[in-house]
This record gives sequence, C-alpha cells and structure tokens, in this order.
Amino acid sequence: MINVPEIFAKNVFNEEKMRERLPEEAYAAFRATIENGRPLDIEVANIVADAMKDWAIEQGCTHYTHWFQPMTGITAEKHDSFLSPTGNGRVIMEFSGKELIKGEPDASSFPNGGIRATFEARGYTTWDPTSYAFVKDNTLCIPTAFMSYTGDVLDKKTPLLRSMDRINHEAVRMLRLFGKTDVTRVKVTVGPEQEYFLIDKELYDRRKDLKYTGRTLFGARSPKGQQLDDHYFGAIKKRVKDFMSELDEELWKLGVYAKTEHNEVAPAQHELAPIFTDVNIAADHNQITMELMKRLAMKHGMVCLLHEKPFKGVNGSGKHNNWSLSTNTGENLFKPGKHPEDNLQFLLFLTAVIKAVDDHQDLLRLSVATAGNDHRMGGDEAPPFIISMFLGDDLEAVVEAIINREDYESQGKVLMETGAESLPVIRKDTTDRNRTSPFAFTGNKFEFRSLGSALNISCPNIMLNTIVADTLAGFSDELEQAENFDAACRRLIRKNLKKHRRIIFNGDGYTDEWIKEAESRGLLNLKGTPEALARYNDKKNIELFERNHIFSKREVEARQEILLENYIKIINLEALTMLDMAKKDILPSVSAFTGKTCATIERKRAVSPDIKVDAELKLVTKLSDLLTEFSERIDALEEQVDAAEQYADDIRMLAQYSCDHIFAAMEALRETGDKMEMCTASKYWPYPSYGELLFSVQ
Ligand code: ADP
Ligand code: MG
Repeated sequence: MINVPEIFAKNVFNEEKMRERLPEEAYAAFRATIENGRPLDIEVANIVADAMKDWAIEQGCTHYTHWFQPMTGITAEKHDSFLSPTGNGRVIMEFSGKELIKGEPDASSFPNGGIRATFEARGYTTWDPTSYAFVKDNTLCIPTAFMSYTGDVLDKKTPLLRSMDRINHEAVRMLRLFGKTDVTRVKVTVGPEQEYFLIDKELYDRRKDLKYTGRTLFGARSPKGQQLDDHYFGAIKKRVKDFMSELDEELWKLGVYAKTEHNEVAPAQHELAPIFTDVNIAADHNQITMELMKRLAMKHGMVCLLHEKPFKGVNGSGKHNNWSLSTNTGENLFKPGKHPEDNLQFLLFLTAVIKAVDDHQDLLRLSVATAGNDHRMGGDEAPPFIISMFLGDDLEAVVEAIINREDYESQGKVLMETGAESLPVIRKDTTDRNRTSPFAFTGNKFEFRSLGSALNISCPNIMLNTIVADTLAGFSDELEQAENFDAACRRLIRKNLKKHRRIIFNGDGYTDEWIKEAESRGLLNLKGTPEALARYNDKKNIELFERNHIFSKREVEARQEILLENYIKIINLEALTMLDMAKKDILPSVSAFTGKTCATIERKRAVSPDIKVDAELKLVTKLSDLLTEFSERIDALEEQVDAAEQYADDIRMLAQYSCDHIFAAMEALRETGDKMEMCTASKYWPYPSYGELLFSVQ
C-alpha cells in the first residue's frame, strides 16, 4: 500500500521544502516575488538556487535543466550538470542564482516563425518562480519561459502568464465596483480532463502509420466497435489498471492532483482528470502528465496514443478545459448561488464571458485548430466547428427573462427522487450535460470541450483569459462613470445579453438544422485548420492582443506561420507514409493474395473442369478492380504531393492546398484500401486490424 499523503509532491521543491530550507528572509523575499510579481534580486536567487541544488542532490540528481514549452507543442530541455572544477583536478557541485534565473538555448533551432534568423540565434529561458521545480530522471527540472534575444515571445508560457496578469487586473478592478475591496487577486483555475488510447506495443510496432504519424491512415472498421457501449466506465483491465496505478503514483510524487481514472466510450480509450489548480500550473502539469503517460505505457508493453483521432469511425480523444475564476478570498466568481437572477455580480461576469465568446469565436476556434483535431471535431461526441455556448435550462431562462424584462425565479437545486429508501437523497445539478456543446456552463465553471487530446492547454487559455479580461475592461470603463451603479450594471447586462444571445444554443450541435440556424445567426463555421488560422492576424485580433500586451503584431504573425507550417508538415508526412504503405505493403500483398486465389482456380480446374470456381472468380474480379482503382489513386496522391511544390513560397496557399487537395486524395486512397482490407485474407493483410488494435490489451 502506498501512503499517498506521504509521497505526494515528494519530487517537487514546493512551498513546504522552501520554508524548511530557506533562511526566513530569503523565503519572505521569494514569497513577495510570487505574490506581488516583484523581481527577485540576485542574492536571494543565489540562496534559493543553492537550497534547490542541495535538495536535488539528495534526490539523486546530477543535472539540472531549464524546462520550457517552445512552439513545437512538446516540452524542451537542455541538461547541464552541477559540476564545477575547483582548479586542483577535483570538482564540487554548484548551482548559482544566475543559472537558476537564466538559460541560453539556441533560439533558431526552435520554431520561431521567421523571428529568429540563424545568425542571431541567441534565446533566453527565464525561471518561472510560480511553478515549482521538480525532479525527473535524476534531473532537476526548472519551469521556465522562453524568448528571443530581442524579447520576442517564442513559447507558450510567457503569453499565458501575461494573460493571467491581465484578467487578474481587470477582475479585481470590476470587483472594486461591487465593493469587494478585500479582493487583491483573482486567479484562473483550470482542470483539464485528458483522454487517451492504450494499445499493445507489439501491434503498434507493426503499423508504420501509427509509428510515423500517431494515427491509422488505413484501417477497415472492426465488426465490434463501441456499439454496445460496454467500455464506458467498464471494469478496468488488469494491464491498464497496473499502468494507471503507476501513473497515479508518479504523478502524485510530482505534485499533480490526479483524481479520476476511468474507461472512456471507445474501446481501449481512457481518461484521467486532475483536480483543478492555477492555470499556469495546470498547463505544466498537463505536459508532464502526457509525457509520463507515454513513458509508463511503454514500460507496461503498451503505447499511449494522444492523437485526436487514432482510429477512423471510433470516438476521438479530447481534452476538456474546465475554466473558472476565483478570488484570494476564496470566492468562485462563476458560482451562481441559489438565485442567480438576483446575483448581479455573477450575472455581470457571466455576461462578460458570453460577450467575449461571441465577439471572439474565431480566436477560440483557432486556438484548438490542428491537423489532428480536424478529424475529431464535428462527430462522435466531439463538438462541432461552430462555437456556441450551452447554459443549461435554468440559466438560459434567467437570461431570457432579463432580455424580456420578465420576472423569473430560478428553481435552485432540485432534490432528486431515487425511489429507493435506502439511497441517500442527492441534489440534482441545475444543468444537464450537453455533449455536443463546445463551451458549456457546468455549475460553477465553463467547460471548453473543443481541445484535442494532444494540445498544450496554454493557447486556449491565453485566448479565454485575454478575451474575458478585455471585455471586463470595457465594462468597467462604462460602469466607473455611472452615477447609479446598480441600475447601470443591470442596463449593461441586459444590453449585452440581448446583443450576444445568438451565441447561446442548448440543442444538438450535430444536426444540419443547427448549421443552417448558426449561419442565419451569423456565427462562424471555420472548418479546416488553414481556414481557422487565417483569422489569427485579423486587424481586430492584433489590436486585441496589443491592447492587452499579450502579443505584438510580429508575434501574432510568427505564431500563425509556425502553426500553418506545422499543419503542412503533418499532412505531407501523412501523405508520404500512406504512399509508402500503399506501394510497398498493401498493393504487393493484395496482388499476392489475388495471385494465390488465381492459382487455386487453376488447381481446382485441373482436378475437374466441372468444379465450381465462381466464388474465387468473383473475389479475383473484385480485388483486381479495386487494385486498379488503388493504383490510380496512388498516382493521384503522388501528383497532388508533387503539385504542392508550386506553393512553396506561399504558406497560406500551401496550407489550404494541403487541406483541399492532398488530404482529399488521401481520403480517396484510404477508401479503396479499406475496401480491399475487407476482402483480403487476414494472413495476407500486412497490418494488424482495427479489431486487434482495439481489443488486444487484456
Ligand atoms: P465531467 O467528466 O463531468 O466533465 P469531472 O468531474 O470529471 O467532470 O471533471 C471536472 C473537472 O473540472 C475536474 O478536473 C475538476 O477539478 C474541474 N473543476 C471543478 N471545479 C473547477 C473550477 N472551479 N475551476 C476549474 N476547474 C474546475
Ligand atoms: Mg468533462
């Protein structure tokens, strides 16, 4: 049995350890930095670094690394040892404040969207004291921000920290107007629910598509899929259970609040939900969680797939981003209370989110746009491309009543009748679930459900924080002038709810009627990643980011370019992998099987010309037709890949071309390939089937 409280945060240099190990003054100076954002002076940094190093060495560390989140989507680290020569041929272990605060990786080797030329390669990592250092693989990992020599942002953490500052400032300012002068800080809390697949490593190794691209590029449906709904919350298999137990333990040691682990709807799909925490820490923890999932799965002879859609026709994996605001006095700003209709402060903050989401649908949509997520969205329980908000019946009625100037008394929580005396009486949530909504109010927080499973959660949270901060700023500008605050506040709420009610939708987001309805409401429907990303540098957005000091115009454009480039590379890699599989494995295998069947026909005929060979003939004819089509589609895809070169100088055109033409040719090739798989003998088919991949882990 593990003692959870004892091991929790064992591998983290947290508050408790700092208090224990730092002299009182140094600790106080460090706290002041965190709480008031004051820069740390070098003497204090030296003391913190030394204590950190001693602790790390006790944990078996020989190295340290500045751990950061460049635009690659994964984390980066460059390891240095604590070693320092003493001049007499011996060494001591040293770590200075300067080394803690600043690192200098080569900026040009990371995606920079043209901001950094190779000849001016210097980049800096700077310590983020708000996220604790931790030990991983005998290395002290120090969470850091990453920027170029010229001060341009090259990572995901810096803008996230900036956006947290912005929303803190604007929420505190607004709360002043409500008389909450004791509130000095408002923080963003986030709990990201992480979905993933686990498959057998041995089978994975036999699939080039999974190895190179993380998803299956061919694969016919297996007879059994998720139709029986027997996997969701089902009993967890032994191998998976062992993996989850070890994952929990390792995460706990790293101070991650791993809380809920269960099976998901699709076979082989699972979910891990942590308890919510500050968004910056939640983002770091989610990166650590994804990394550990991959590593520990290997140890258990499995592979963890974080791709948004590893299997066609089977639910994809998302990452629900639960987002809320809370004050240093312990108040959740999105808690409606018993009677939200009378809770002016709640209604004001709710209205700010409604307006922000409506005004900036494009930013929310593009913050989750990736090649992988394009396959997931719009079906199988994933939200559609159109951004809308779900409030639940009760709150929607409140909003309608305000707009229509009607009286409304909310029901509050209703007791739930279980019908059995021995069961405890429970309170029903005022909102039911709506699985197709991209952005749902769920009781005291908002759940942004459009994120794909592989995404770094920073980007969507940067957007959320920024758009809500900006909206609150506009509201405060207006309300600060008001003579009668209450009346002005009610007017402002009503005016904005009326104007932005079009974003609220409680129905089924998959239907064609909704697509039409959304269009008539003027909502955006940005389908592919290139189309969504094209909006990033719209004038409105650049102004928003500059006004809120999140990104400069140059940084927005760099980001847009990095993301488009990434998209293009993924489509290209997938196309090349498909061609390789099609030409080297699938076509020869199906041809061999066809030949074998022809030989059978000949042998049967040799026995007696009267023996029936109709079945074999039918099969050979069908496979030969499919093979012809397959070969033509290989040529077509190859042509599209070659033709893309003409847009090599225009990244937007190339991205759109990849989406419209290369991707379409891939889909066509897959269609024929999957048909052939359905009528080729298993032992001739070169890859493990969907059935094997999805049901092999016991
Ligand atoms: P469901 O699966 O129904 O969406 P879960 O209870 O599994 O819900 O997950 C909800 C997530 O929301 C958890 O990560 C939880 O910690 C998080 N959460 C709860 N309250 C807040 C809050 N105030 N702010 C941010 N996240 C929250
Ligand atoms: Mg959820």
